[in-house]
This record gives sequence, C-alpha cells and structure tokens, in this order.
Amino acid sequence: MNTHSQSASGIDRDRIIIFDTTLRDGEQSPGATLNVDEKLTIARQLARLGVDVIEAGFAYASPGDFEAVQKVAETVGTADGPVICSLARAIKADIEAAAEALKPAAKGRIHTFISTSDIHLQYQLKKSRAEVLAIAEEMVAYAKSFMEDVEFSPMDAARSEPEFLYQVLERAIAAGATTVNIPDTVGYMMPSEFGNLIRGIAENVPNIDRAIISVHGHNDLGVAVANFLEAIKNGARQLECTINGIGERAGNTALEELVMALHVRRQYFNAFLGRPAESEEPLTGIDTRQLYKTSRLVSNLTGMLVQPNKAIVGANAFAHESGIHQDGVLKHKLTYEIMDAQSIGFTDNQIVLGKHSGRNAFRTRLKELGFDLGDQELNKAFVRFKELADKKKEVSDWDLEAIVNDEIQQVPELFKLEHVQVSCGDHARPTATVTIRTPDGEELTDAAIGTGPVDAVYKAINRVVEIPNQFGGVLSAVGDSGNRRDRRGDDSPEI
Ligand SMILES: [Zn+2]
Repeated sequence: MNTHSQSASGIDRDRIIIFDTTLRDGEQSPGATLNVDEKLTIARQLARLGVDVIEAGFAYASPGDFEAVQKVAETVGTADGPVICSLARAIKADIEAAAEALKPAAKGRIHTFISTSDIHLQYQLKKSRAEVLAIAEEMVAYAKSFMEDVEFSPMDAARSEPEFLYQVLERAIAAGATTVNIPDTVGYMMPSEFGNLIRGIAENVPNIDRAIISVHGHNDLGVAVANFLEAIKNGARQLECTINGIGERAGNTALEELVMALHVRRQYFNAFLGRPAESEEPLTGIDTRQLYKTSRLVSNLTGMLVQPNKAIVGANAFAHESGIHQDGVLKHKLTYEIMDAQSIGFTDNQIVLGKHSGRNAFRTRLKELGFDLGDQELNKAFVRFKELADKKKEVSDWDLEAIVNDEIQQVPELFKLEHVQVSCGDHARPTATVTIRTPDGEELTDAAIGTGPVDAVYKAINRVVEIPNQFGGVLSAVGDSGNRRDRRGDDSPEI
C-alpha cells in the first residue's frame, strides 16, 4: 500500500518509523515495573495504535524479561503486526538470548549496542577504539546470522568523536545493520546540535543509504521532542519513544507529543521528507485516535500518573476554563484549539454503563478501553462493577479502569496493616503508632512523629518495613521482575 518514493536500497525515506520502547526503556522508570501480563496488555494496545516497532525488553537481563519478549513476539508479533525487538549488548550471549526470545515473531529485530565515546571506552569498557570497531562489526554480523533486521546503537554517540562515530557506523552498516540509532543517552543536547549531529552522519557515513537513521533521547532538559523534530529535518527517519514519555530520570521522548506534532504540523515537515508541501498524507503509521486510550492504559498499569497540564494527553490539554476561550471555542473550534480532542480519541470521560448493563456490554467496553481480560478476571471485575453500579448508578470509563486495574494488577500482599493509632491536636505533635504483620506472620510495632497525622502514619510504617524512600521501596520489592537487574549489573548501563 506504500506509494511513496523509495531509495535504491528499498528503504522508504518519506515516512517516519515509530519505535516504541515503553516496555524496555520506559519500564526502567523507578516504580514502573510491569509483570508479563501487563506487558502483553500494553503490547496489544501498541499494536492497535499502529507503532512500527515494539522494543519488548532486554531478553538476556533476567528470566522475566526473556519471557516478556517471547510472549510479546508470540502474541503481537504477527505477520501484519509490528516488528518485535529485543535489546542486546554487543556480547554473544546477549544476542543469542534476544534471537531465541524473538523466534516466535513473524518480524523480529535484534538491537545491539556498544559505547563509542572516549570517556566510556576508557573508564567503562577499558577498550581501545580499534577494539570497539572490531566488536561492533563482529557482533552486528553475529546478530545478522540470526535475523535480517538488525539495529546498532553507538552508546553515548553525542559525546563521541565524530570521525570515530562515522567509522563505527560505516563498519556496522557494512556488517549488516539496517538501522543505526543515535542516542543522546544523558539528555544533554540542544535541538540544533542534535540536528547537526544527524546531518553529519547523513553526510559523512559513506554507506548510510543502506540504513535508516534512528534517534533515541531523554528529556533531562525538556527538549527531547524538539531534538527529535530537528533530527527529522536532518535525515532521521526512526524515532525511539515511550507512551507518556516514561523512562529513567526525566523520561524518554514522549510518543504522543512527537506523533501529534507531526500530525498537526505535517505540512511544515512535508518538505523535509521530500513530499509536496500541500500533502495531507500522514507522516507516521499511528492511528492518533488510539493515543488517549494508550496513555491511560500505560498510566494505569505502571502507576505513573500523567500531569494534568501534560501536552496532548493531560486531563487539561483540551479543557478551556477561561470564559473568553470557551466563547471562542463555542463559536469556532479553531479559534483556540489547534487540534480536535477527537483526533486523539479523548472522549470526555463518557458515561456509558449503568446498573442494568450486562456482561457483554461490560466486556465490550473494556475491550474498547484496551483491556482484554480472561474469563476469571472478567468475572471478578464484573462483580465489582455491579457493586459499584448499585451505589453510583452511572459508571464512567475511569471507574472501569480503576476496577480492572485492581483485578489485573495483582500485587501480592506482603505486609498487612493490623492496627493504627494516631494522636494530634492544636498543641500536640502528630504521632502515630502502627502494627504491621510481615509476610512471615510476625507482628511489628513502631511509632513516629510527622508533620500531620497521615505523614506520621507513613513515617511509622516506613520505620517498621525499613523503606528508605516511601515512593519506590515497596513497589520495587514486589512483582515478578524484582530480580530483573540480576544479569545487567551496574557496569552495563543501557542506552
Ligand atoms: Zn534510553
């Protein structure tokens, strides 16, 4: 169905490839750990959204990661579905694990990486440039022996010496890399610098026409989306991003922001992609009407809330509070709205179900929200729904999300709160005493003073369970991937 121009190598240069790494890089956000079922639910929705590539995990990192990549490959990696990708260091065992996990996918991709900056070479890898060149070439070729589709990332590309970077990329492409990905791992670059870096690669790597240039970035300085848009103008054709921009530190580049910038301003970008200026054809394969639903799903399953003023998917992104704006919007939508809420599938928290709604309506609505439950989970959720409908009469989509998340996010109950006592008053320091039963059945009691009664309770709980920080401690102690960093180690950072 592609009618666009293609280069001699058969690579389509006038569309943007969306590579989603929510399940790999996004899942590395502190507290965002997902179990295999949750990853599958998200992967299915990413396929509905129309992403081109799903990076499902880092197969070698842990048995949990391996299983997740394999299950996503099996279920979502159909012939008409997205390419399924696994990350792998430039090490044989990593590449073998990735290849094995990806076997069930109709279209698989191994994404291998090695550092190319002098600072990483000297202190982390303890290897010379010549050694890194040889490893990159050898490991890309090794990955190629398992599958046709191989992506190579020179980690810390932004701080690498350009001449050396060009050399590494040339050798990786010669060895079979079909995508070369340029990461700004530490989120340091400014848009024009990043654009120049990409332009340098497009102009100086002799065999670059045989590969797609991809970009990967982090939002430490708030310019990740701007960097990627600049990269497109200079030759990048694949964007690595996550839903809601989740990811380590300030997060990855947000998929929904990139996609809507390219959608709303497609005529601005047409020229850079070699299209006629007035072309209305979409620049990505994304079904933008699935964006809001996907955002809600990822937020629900990771427990990472979306700030209300977040671009595109924040609760206020389409709310026009001020009287003047409301008047303008009523008279003509385009007065103050550059895009239509419908275009991202924002449905105003529609009330769709009530106490007389049956099981089928319930299941259908859940499917529309991106939840595909097994029979047992559906039964439990339906009972909860009926209870709520009796009390509330009208049940909103957000209520349904809350119900389903309770049912499918099965966090094992490790600690049980047995007893709480709080005392406070106008001249008293808020003090709480709590008794908690541990997973071994032991009862522990402690007390703490806080800035208010609730704070005192949390502090007392923290004292009992010895959580160093109250936001991440418990969460990271549970779930099936609690030991996921087993094989990764601190000395093998990821891009
Ligand atoms: Zn990253």
